[in-house]
Amino acid sequence: MTHTPQNLVILTGAGISAESGISTFRDAGGLWEGHHIEDVASPRGFARDPALVHHFYNLRRAQLACVAPNAAHLALAALERAWRAARRGQFLLITQNVDDLHERAGSQRLVHMHGELRKLRCTACDTILDWPGPATPQTPCPACARPGGTLRPDIVWFGEVPYQMETCLRALLAADIFCAIGTSGLVYPAAGFAQTALENGRACRLFEINPKPTGTDLFDDVIAEPASTGVAEFVRRLQPA
Ligand code: NAD
Repeated sequence: MTHTPQNLVILTGAGISAESGISTFRDAGGLWEGHHIEDVASPRGFARDPALVHHFYNLRRAQLACVAPNAAHLALAALERAWRAARRGQFLLITQNVDDLHERAGSQRLVHMHGELRKLRCTACDTILDWPGPATPQTPCPACARPGGTLRPDIVWFGEVPYQMETCLRALLAADIFCAIGTSGLVYPAAGFAQTALENGRACRLFEINPKPTGTDLFDDVIAEPASTGVAEFVRRLQPA
């Protein structure tokens, strides 16, 4: 039996990792682990106090050793495997998260549009380095060894351009199904992805999984549940009738 290909794009935000014990940002009153976002997630904040910013991301990086993927991360990885095995169409998972829980769950076609906690970037030679441990403003870049202050967290901060936007846009324009999970829909450009999918001329079906209303009426299916049970319900709704 042959199926019409169905291309699936998933967008995840901080909410999918909440049940793994990683705090979201807006649920804590706009503070990220007690910090104003502009202090720890903007180029100006880093220029003002690089030691504070490194320390903040060192703690977030260290926390990764104490958390594990939850049922939602695992269900998305299983969905990707099933999608490929059944040759149902293209699959792309776009995450705004900087944790590594999707890859640890087994997801493969994954875009980290806001960067990754376990990486640093050298502002002098542009090398991106796998970095499991802590860093300070004095840590030299192992690639170019220029003196002090050239390494920064490989995180896309406010005002910077997210990674792999071309891949994301191409997938959204070809999407037949789009699902936003655990994202407040307030951080652009990710906040515009549902609209792009809606207008792609393919009658794309739009799903949202979030226990709280996000105030948009773009979605055909709203699953008002935590991600751990919501993704299972989403997978059920994708089964051919
Ligand atoms: P956000 O903090 O703005 O919003 C989180 C959303 O998740 C809210 O709408 C909330 O209702 C929902 N939510 C809470 N618990 C949930 C659950 N159990 N299941 C499903 N949804 C749940 O998050 P955002 O939209 O991703 O934007 C914040 C930015 O901060 C992102 O760019 C991200 O890079 C960064 N951030 C990342 C992490 C992480 O990597 N885990 C954590 C905090 C912040």
